[in-house]
Order: sequence, then C-alpha cells, then structure tokens
Amino acid sequence: MTVLATAAYAAVNAKSPLAQFSIERREPRANDVLIDIAYCGVCHSDVHQIREEWGSSIFPMVPGHEIVGHVAKVGSAVSKWKVGDAVGVGCFVDSCRDCEACHAGEEQFCANGMSATYNGYERNGGKLDRKLPTYGGYSTRITVDENYVLRIPAGMPLDRAAPLLCAGITTYSPLHHFGVKAGDKVAIVGLGGLGHMGVKIAHAMGAHVTVLSHSPGKRDDALKLGADDFLATKDASIFQTNVKRFDFILDTVSAQHDYNAYLGLLKRDGTMVLVGAPDPTPVHAFSLIAGRKRLAGSLIGGIRETQEMLDFCAKHDVASDIELIPIDKINEAYDRMVRNDVRYRFVIDIASLKR
Ligand code: NAP
Ligand code: ZN
Repeated sequence: MTVLATAAYAAVNAKSPLAQFSIERREPRANDVLIDIAYCGVCHSDVHQIREEWGSSIFPMVPGHEIVGHVAKVGSAVSKWKVGDAVGVGCFVDSCRDCEACHAGEEQFCANGMSATYNGYERNGGKLDRKLPTYGGYSTRITVDENYVLRIPAGMPLDRAAPLLCAGITTYSPLHHFGVKAGDKVAIVGLGGLGHMGVKIAHAMGAHVTVLSHSPGKRDDALKLGADDFLATKDASIFQTNVKRFDFILDTVSAQHDYNAYLGLLKRDGTMVLVGAPDPTPVHAFSLIAGRKRLAGSLIGGIRETQEMLDFCAKHDVASDIELIPIDKINEAYDRMVRNDVRYRFVIDIASLKR
C-alpha cells in the first residue's frame, strides 16, 4: 500500500506535551477520499484522552475529531464526493457496518466498536486492525471511507463549522432524540464548547433556554448566544428557587459535580441527559423516584443525524463561536481550556502546520 507522509502534532505519552510529528496516511482505496484538512476544533475529550483521564490511551496520539477541509483525491469507486468538495469528519472514521446499530445509522454505538477518529483502530471492511491506530485532525490530511464523511453546507464558514462535528452533534442529538420542542423549558449546564452549541441549537428549536453555570461572568455571553435566562450555580439558593422548573436538562460539564442537585430542578417526567464525561458521582434513587424522572446519557450521533444537524445549523444560521489558533499554541490552549478560559471553542488553523 502506498502511503503519504503527513505532518501532524502528537503526544508520545500521557505526560508529554504535543509536538511536531510525522504520520502516514493511506492512498485512497476504491471507496476512500483523501481530505486536505483546513481546520480542526479542540474538544475537551482531546485532553481527557491524551492525559488518560478515561483509562489507557494509544500512543503516539494525534488528537482531533472536529475536522473540516476539502476533498483532494477520490478512490475509483467513490460516488458521493468530488475533488474540491467542502467536507467534515467527526468522532469516528469507520464501524463494522453489519450490527444492529450500524444498520440503524447509529454507528457511534457499533456493537463491534466504532473506529474512533483517533485513539482507535482502522478497519478495512470489517474487523478492527489493531496494528493500525487511527490518527486525528491535528494533521494536514486524512484518508476516510466516503460513507463516514459529512457535507459542509454551502456558505457555512469552515472554521466555525469545525466544532459542529463533535460539539454540535453531541448537543443536537439528545435534544432531538428526546423530542425537545418549541416552548419547552430547557437548561444547559456548563457553558463551554458543548454548552454554547447546546444553547444555540436549543434556541433554534424554539425552546426557552436557561444556562446554569459556575462562572457568573458568562451571563452576558449566555444571553447573546440565545439563552433566555442564566443561573449562577455558585449561589446554592438557585437549587431551591428553581425546583421542578425544567422539562429537559442537558449536562455538558467536564468536571465532577452533584447530579442530584440538578435532578431536583426537573419537572415531573423530566429528563436529564449527561454528555459531559467527568468521573461519576453517586445518584440517589429518590432523586429519580420522586417525580418519575429520567437520567440518560448520549454519545455524539450517527452519520445520518450528523448531516441532519449540519443542515439544521445552516438553515438556522448556527455555527460555533471560536478562537482560531496556530498549531504551536495547542499546549497553551489545553491549559486554558482546563482553566475554563475559552470563548467558546479553540479551532486550529491547519495552514500553520503546512508552513
Ligand atoms: P469545555 O469547553 O471545557 O466546557 C466544559 C464546561 O464545564 C466549562 O465551560 C464550565 O462551564 C464547566 N466546568 C468546568 N469545570 C467545572 C467545574 N470544576 N465545576 C463546574 N463546572 C465546570 O469542554 P467541552 O469540550 O464542552 O466538553 C465537555 C464535556 O463533554 C467533556 O467531559 C467532554 O469529554 C465531554 N464530551 C462528551 C461527548 C459525548 O458524546 N458525550 C462528546 C464530546 C465531549 P461553566 O463555566 O459555564 O460552568
Ligand atoms: Zn469531542
């Protein structure tokens, strides 16, 4: 197989900073496209995985699963894409295609394990190949099967579209799946990369949106992003004064916090969905029993739903609020993200890696 030497940024272990690195991308097979990467968003999951906060990771690691760029080359059997198309790649680059989840278009729940865009393994029609780790979007190009590529709608700015590939779909999917509708009282917990997309998308769905944040200084931003109300969670009294207020709570917080306090804010038959992935905290049975409440989780979204989200965002003029950085600022960006100093998503300008 011919390979393409490709510039990237990688960490060699959980303690090392990211630094310049070279990886190999495969020449497109019959059903592949080669994508020239323009931008890649920086997700808190990149930090969790590189620092092994979710258990052991595969190193060297090239993170990045909010990828946008242009098709540079197509395989002989590719029918969906042509050179020059603006495209995206999200959190997975393949799946088994044969299990119930894949058939349902929910490839993120593939029974045989999706091929995560990084910190995972490639497959060539079927089984994971543990000799071939995947490498993500902190790199100049990527080769992906055409069925795992998304179309960026015409007119959407590519840099502001990148975070939709993870932050956008991760918030759209539960809002959509659990049937949030116009007029519903929705709370978004945590105003970070995911949270700010959750606010924009829930607002575009017509919901009445309240942000719950441990950063009182984010109030004005929250309202500008489309929230109708803002509650600072440092003031513990809000957990008494807003009891049974919300139909739906979307929790995007990356750090440990008490889920029971938030469950108290749900109406009868309300649903709280966790997408933030810190270490768990105990949930008391009575937090759910009293009021027949549901606590659920959600993981990104499938390819079909991701395309639907992109089209929804284009229709409602929704994109991410970003701070564009050159790749050599990535370690600083991680530290700033962990310190909660990001408004609201870092996006790497991959041109800085090509120079
Ligand atoms: P982020 O940009 O760092 O935002 C996280 C937000 O959590 C912060 O903006 C902050 O909001 C809040 N927060 C941070 N530290 C806190 C603390 N000590 N106490 C209370 N709140 C705190 O991260 P992100 O990229 O949006 O990711 C959020 C989480 O979702 C991460 O755990 C990530 O791994 C996970 N994730 C899950 C999925 C999925 O499919 N389920 C997909 C992508 C990411 P305030 O300042 O407003 O409180
Ligand atoms: Zn992500």
